[in-house]
Amino acid sequence: LTIKKELPEINIKIDACFLSNPYATDLFMDRFKTDVIDTGLIREVLEFYPSQNNIISKTLSKTIDVPEDNIFIGNGATEIIQAIFHNFVERKVIINIPTFSPYYEFVREDTEVIFHQLKKEDNFCLDVESFCRRAKESGVDTAVIINPNNPDGGYIKNSDIAYICNELGDIPNLIIDESFIHFTYEDSTYDFSSSEQLVKKYDNVIIIKSMSKDFGIAGIRAGYCVMDKQKVETLLKNGYLWNVNGLTEFFFNLCSEEKFMLEYEKVRVKYIKYTNEFIKQLKAIEKIKVYPSKANFVLVELPEQIKSQTFVKDLLIDSGIYFRSCDDKKGLEGNFVRIASRDREQNDVIVREISKYFGDVDE
Ligand SMILES: *Cc1c(COP(=O)(O)O)cnc(C)c1O
Repeated sequence: LTIKKELPEINIKIDACFLSNPYATDLFMDRFKTDVIDTGLIREVLEFYPSQNNIISKTLSKTIDVPEDNIFIGNGATEIIQAIFHNFVERKVIINIPTFSPYYEFVREDTEVIFHQLKKEDNFCLDVESFCRRAKESGVDTAVIINPNNPDGGYIKNSDIAYICNELGDIPNLIIDESFIHFTYEDSTYDFSSSEQLVKKYDNVIIIKSMSKDFGIAGIRAGYCVMDKQKVETLLKNGYLWNVNGLTEFFFNLCSEEKFMLEYEKVRVKYIKYTNEFIKQLKAIEKIKVYPSKANFVLVELPEQIKSQTFVKDLLIDSGIYFRSCDDKKGLEGNFVRIASRDREQNDVIVREISKYFGDVDE
């Protein structure tokens, strides 16, 4: 939205920067219209205070099968990251890079950050053994894992998550960010596997979950966190009692509805299938290297002579497609861009325009 305001003359036709499932946004819009606008409920949403954090936790508790005492609701996951770093993270944190930057930008001034480099040669895939060894050797009190990772989409299997939890059972905070977990699967059923239940077994595990990407609702701000109930209590006492709005509450109510979740499941799987087709087509473009991803985006390496900012600018001006240049990503040297999967028609346009850019198709 900021870009649209600042550069009104540029017409972004396809925003492939933005990481969300557009089919889930459609689903939410339908229900927003029938349940909130058409019924006049909108007046209540605007006029009254929403429920407090712990009431919304109670609703979500049934949806995710986690006791309400272990759930904290956030005004987007970003707020939760900030709250955790300011309240629980102390001396030292280990973070893989490249990563989602708030994880090191929000650290307190007295917190040291250990950057653990994901290797290009390994396709940015996390070597769990070396990560755990490094975490222990450096005596961190907090470790951060993003599964799948942003910006590369690298996925950590269930068995590897279990290994990390066992190895790092003694540190106070083991953060697992599952903001893109709904796009992952380990077999042909396309079921995803969240680590939320691990909080029952390991009291240091902190699961952070944004609803922005998988439900396509970044604008309403909804996220949650599953963690030890003492930590939830601490945050509630520190001023996060009334931190979300009425639309966020409406959204979490929808998530507790079986019908909505069945419909969501359909658009989730449909989007994964389209995303897989999209990635396959991108991989077929010879000049670019597409790194393996289980998320709804891919990290792409451009040929040596093409700077990522030039590529982004060219495609924006020539084709109205906007990609995320990764120039500013710590731990990512070279010409990288991140390309998000949009709806099927837009994905086809993206593939066509990139192919055209590299002269792969005749006009
Ligand atoms: C986008 C993102 C978030 C934050 O999302 P919110 O919109 O604040 O809920 C958190 N973690 C990762 C890894 C993300 O990519």
